[in-house]
Amino acid sequence: MNILVTGGAGFVGSHLVEKLLEDGHKVTVIDDLSTGRIDNIRHLTCDKNLTVRIGTILNEQLMSKLVSKADFIYHLAAAVGVKYVIENPLRSIQTNVKGTEIVLELAEKLSRGNRRKKVLITSTSEVYGKNEKIPFKETDDRVMGPTTISRWSYSCAKAMDEFLALAYWREKRLPVIIVRLFNTCGPRQVSDYGMVIPRFIEQALRDKPLTVYGDGRQTRSFLYVDDAVRAIVSLSKNPKAVGEIFNIGSSERITIAGLASRIVTMTGSRSAIKLVPYEKVYTKGFEDMRHRFPNTAKIHGLTGFRIRYTLKDTLENMIEDARIRISKGGAKACC
Ligand code: UDP
Repeated sequence: MNILVTGGAGFVGSHLVEKLLEDGHKVTVIDDLSTGRIDNIRHLTCDKNLTVRIGTILNEQLMSKLVSKADFIYHLAAAVGVKYVIENPLRSIQTNVKGTEIVLELAEKLSRGNRRKKVLITSTSEVYGKNEKIPFKETDDRVMGPTTISRWSYSCAKAMDEFLALAYWREKRLPVIIVRLFNTCGPRQVSDYGMVIPRFIEQALRDKPLTVYGDGRQTRSFLYVDDAVRAIVSLSKNPKAVGEIFNIGSSERITIAGLASRIVTMTGSRSAIKLVPYEKVYTKGFEDMRHRFPNTAKIHGLTGFRIRYTLKDTLENMIEDARIRISKGGAKACC
């Protein structure tokens, strides 16, 4: 199959591309390298089934060419990371709303007769906002803070992507699938955009204090990227997934302070654990999500999908990856 992966040089995108090539597909990646890195896919560039285009999904002319050749589009290109979104609010909204609109519009316009192009949209658990009723079910309410707090623009932009995708399905019969990823992590994820595990591991390996924001009692469940990719691919093959939204996440939950001490122990670090008030890191009035925890009955019911990696496996793999990266000053390359 001819597959287009937007954001294919990103952290999740690069793992997905690897899997799709392994499965024998012809894959085209478009990435503007805003948060993605060519190093993430350098080891794949010798594969004759891979084409890489550096460019933005906001370039309609380029996107038209790429979408016209694709049977299936995995749309992952997006502004990601709380830190990145807060520092780049305009770019984040534009990429996340306009970019998705371009993908969906072109997929519909360039579909021929019965050969509809299929689109999988990657959304996020952030759409649930500060709802404290966990676990989150796909049909649960979204609870948002005020528009003066940039963080919620990310949640609203991704929710608008979901509305758009569902509207294309309902009105134009464009087959879409929506997945909400919960704190995906794994090798190649970098600390630059605020993600907690790579930050803690890097701090621990450098014997620097681990910066736990707030009181550290907020909880998250972390999804290993290989599990995320397996879930995404299984849904994309299932005709009953079309027009539906699925949570993808782990059922193992941990406090952020607990995560910090676990990483200190596992790395054998001499680091201290330091509580840092949110106002010192973000702007005044920053709001965190107290808990994020998925109800995954829907994906399990449809595909039988279960998580394979425990948090222990996840941390072990990420620590090893970070050690290699720090010692070599870059990612592994083989092409
Ligand atoms: N966090 C932290 N220290 C850091 C980075 C993040 O304590 O150096 C906290 C953050 O405030 C949040 C949790 O870790 O409560 C997860 O943060 P991340 O940005 O990885 O994901 P999200 O907030 O989007 O769930």
